[in-house]
Order: sequence, then structure tokens, then C-alpha cells
Amino acid sequence: MLPINVMYDSGIDEFEEIAIVNGLGELDSMFPGMRIRMYGASAWCEGEYSSADWYVHNTRAVPRMDILQLDAGDLIDLIAGEPWQEAEPHIDVMFTSYDLAAMDGRQYLNFVFGMADGRITVQSVARYRELPDFDRYLAIKAVVQHELGHIFGMASNLGRTNTEYNLGPHCTNSGCIMRQGLSVSEWVQHARESHEMGRVYCPQCLKDKVSTYDAIPLGAYAAVAAGGNKIGR
Ligand SMILES: [Zn+2]
Ligand SMILES: [Zn+2]
Repeated sequence: MLPINVMYDSGIDEFEEIAIVNGLGELDSMFPGMRIRMYGASAWCEGEYSSADWYVHNTRAVPRMDILQLDAGDLIDLIAGEPWQEAEPHIDVMFTSYDLAAMDGRQYLNFVFGMADGRITVQSVARYRELPDFDRYLAIKAVVQHELGHIFGMASNLGRTNTEYNLGPHCTNSGCIMRQGLSVSEWVQHARESHEMGRVYCPQCLKDKVSTYDAIPLGAYAAVAAGGNKIGR
């Protein structure tokens, strides 16, 4: 199994850190042999590519008047350019405290919760900060499990049922974390339902993972999969 490197910028607070760690911990106990390496907000070297904050500071801001957002696609490209991917193939997971937006065709979506491309996923906690604690916790946990699900190839198997293409391939099974959520309230609703059913991925998505994980070459799984949308904030 490819190791998973996890980093986040220094704006991520302790509550959010716990949600991220627990979301990954649930996957760790689900998939034997998973290797998760937490780099967190600390710098691992000097100069370029030295910390999550370095990535944030070098990512293009979305040209909008009213709100500061980072371009999720640009952030992914920046991470893809790091010097260590060839030496040791791995998955990169990055969390940011800044809001994210991404291009859909030639237009920016108004925001995205996260985005996955190839072996890289970037996710934001900014939209969950006004939520009550438990919803906020579930929403953060859901986004890391959802975006990693994209990297594992879940719901992208063309031969299977109960999928939809909605800003990337998504599952439509109840309680599955691979469902698409187009607003904060919809995202929380899905996260709650998964929690109440005691489920992360549905059996169909788990089967997708078994058949495709580790087979994804860098950059080949180009489907952009975002958790945000065009409607509402
Ligand atoms: Zn599913
Ligand atoms: Zn998605």
C-alpha cells in the first residue's frame, strides 16, 4: 500500500486536528497495512516545499472581491511538483484553514470542501467553523475519508451501479461517505447519516477500492472530484 503523508497549515486548530486524526484512524483500522505519516503543521526541511504553510503561501488566490480563497487546483499542482514523489511514491493529504475554490470548466465554483487528483487531495475546514461541535467534527472526518475514497478509486468503476457523476464520480448508497454534498447542510446530513449507520464506505465502494488501489499511476486518474458546488455558500 502506498504510504499516506498528511500535512496541514498552521491555521488548523486542535479540534480540527483531532477530527482529522480520528478520520484517518478509522481508515487505518479498516484497511490493514495502511501507513499514515503525520507531518502536521511543522516544517520538515528548509526552503521550498518545506511545510504546508509554504504551499499555502505559494498558491494562487482566486480573484474574488468579497472573500479570500485559494485555488484548489493550483495547490494540487504545487504539491505534485514536490521533489519526493519519484523517490518514494506516496499519497499526499493536505488540510488548509483557508477556503478553497476550483475551476469547473472555465468558471470557478463558489467553493469546494476538497478536491482529489491522482495521488493528491487538498481539503478545507473553513466552511465548518460555524457549525456546532459534533457536526463540525463529523464534517471534517467525512471530508478526509471522502477525498481519500476518490484516490482509492471509489465510485469511479464504470461497471457498477448506484453512482452518479456530479463534480466527479460519486456513490448514491445511503450512509456511504462517497456521496456528493453540494452545501454545508447537505454535507453534514450525509456525515450524520454515515455516523448513525456506523458506516464509512458502502460495500460497493469498498469493492472498488480492492480492485483499483495501488494501480493508479501518478496523474492518470485525472477526474477532478470536488465536494463543493455552484449554489449557495
Ligand atoms: Zn458507496
Ligand atoms: Zn467527491
